[in-house]
This record gives sequence, C-alpha cells and structure tokens, in this order.
Amino acid sequence: MSGLQGRVALVTGASQGIGRACALALAAEGATVALAARNEAKLSEVQAEIEAAGGKAAAFALDVADEASIKAGAKAILDQLGTVEILVNNAGITRDKLVMQMKREDWEAVLATNLTGAFLLTQALLRPMLKNRWGRIINISSVVGRTGQAGQVNYAATKAGLIGVTRSLAREVAARGITVNAVAPGYIETPMTAVLNEAQTAAMMTTIPLGRAGTDADIAHAVVYLASEGAGYVTGHVLDVNGGMFMGG
Ligand code: NDP
Repeated sequence: MSGLQGRVALVTGASQGIGRACALALAAEGATVALAARNEAKLSEVQAEIEAAGGKAAAFALDVADEASIKAGAKAILDQLGTVEILVNNAGITRDKLVMQMKREDWEAVLATNLTGAFLLTQALLRPMLKNRWGRIINISSVVGRTGQAGQVNYAATKAGLIGVTRSLAREVAARGITVNAVAPGYIETPMTAVLNEAQTAAMMTTIPLGRAGTDADIAHAVVYLASEGAGYVTGHVLDVNGGMFMGG
C-alpha cells in the first residue's frame, strides 16, 4: 500500500491504455478514482473493473480539448467527490505528419488536447488542492518530449511543454505541500502505438536497451510512486520510464 486510502484521484484519458492502468493501480492502493475521458461506455467498463476488485471509482464524461467541458467536468467532480488531491494529466493524442505536410489544424488539435487541456484542468482543480495543503499533480509527458521525433513536431512540442509546465508549477505550489512531477514513458504497448506497423515497431525495439516494449503497468507503477506519501520530497522531476531508450538524467 502507498498510503492512498481516503485520497481522491482524477485520471484523464482513463478509458483505455495508460490512463486505465493508472486508474486501476491508484484504486488498488485505496484511492477513490474519478475517471475522465470522452467515451462513456469505456469509462463505465473501467469503473466496473475497479469496483469488482473492491475499489472505488466514478466516471465523468469530459473532453479536455473543450474549455466548457473541462469547467463543467471539474465542477461535477468537485460536487460529487469534494476534492481532487491527486491529478494525473494523461489524456493525449497524436496527429503525426512531417512539418511540410502538417496542417495548422493538426498542430492546434494536439496542442489543445495534450497541453492546453492539462493547463486548464489543473487550473480548474488547483484552488481546493491549495486549501488542502496536500496534493500531487502528475503530467504524462513522453520520451519524445526529451529527444524529439521526426513527424511529431506538434506532439513533441506538447510533451516538452508539459515538462516546462511541471517545473514551473512545482515552484509555484511547493509551499502549499503540493508536488508536481512528470512521467516520460518510452515505447508502451497501448491502442496509441498499435497503429505502428511491424517495421516501425522493429526499428523502435532496436533503440531499447532493456529489449522489450513497456506496458501500461510499468507507467502505472511510476504514477503510484509519485502519488504516494513517500514521494513527498520529490517535485519538479521528470521520471523516465523507457527501458533505457533515453538516459538523460
Ligand atoms: P491511448 O490512445 O490508448 O489513450 C488515450 C486516452 O486519452 C484515451 O483514454 C482517450 O479517451 C483520452 N483522450 C484523448 N483525447 C481526449 C480528449 N479530448 N478528452 C478527454 N480524453 C481524451 O494512448 P496511451 O494510453 O498510449 O497514452 C496515454 C498518454 O501517454 C498520452 O498522453 C500519450 O501521449 C502518453 N504516452 C504514450 C506512449 C506510448 O508509447 N503509448 C509513450 C509516451 C507517452 P477517449 O477517446 O475516450 O476520450
């Protein structure tokens, strides 16, 4: 146990992949987990899975690319659960194209979901966290935000941007007992990476010293650690969980 009994957590993008795994893991540690994403049917399945394992969860339809939806969703979550003490900004999309082919809408869509969404949701939930004088904000960045990746200028900008947000906000809220950290996953097998073809996957594999793709559970373990009481002296940190793909320190 990580001492999360009685804590309230919110995970965005909890309907599948890494977000789902983080929600299951936080609930297994005793947190009540608010599950947010657009697909309500999938959220209900995750909620049922958590409850079947004896955990507590509630589902909230929320589109992080839509400011009105964020405001309404944050209000609904606070009304129902009272507070959010652990916020995992995980929702993310890709729209990969080489720069010369990238349309402004590809740029804007990825920024709105991955970066502006995390900013607006954090802002909407920060006041009660500041009042509580305890909080954990965990932003899901990417190895791509550290190294760059051809075909992903939009995505890499958001993932590097989240690292800047993490370190700046960590300084703003440290005095109130709130830590802000990022997790930077490497190549993780989820629906997001299932679109890569065999050649792309094989090429990726040659860059991973540990010789395997990561799992959503690998990321969930890191998130549970950063949410834990024991991580209370860690802030402004970027935790690489990438099998050694990038060893940047
Ligand atoms: P998936 O595509 O499997 O899941 C993405 C999740 O984000 C879904 O639950 C989706 O739910 C949600 N989402 C997307 N857009 C929105 C939106 N506008 N509003 C609310 N929720 C939204 O991706 P992964 O699980 O692989 O990725 C999760 C995070 O981890 C992302 O931020 C990704 O960038 C990052 N990451 C992933 C890596 C990997 O190798 N898989 C590597 C590095 C980082 P719904 O469609 O129901 O709204």
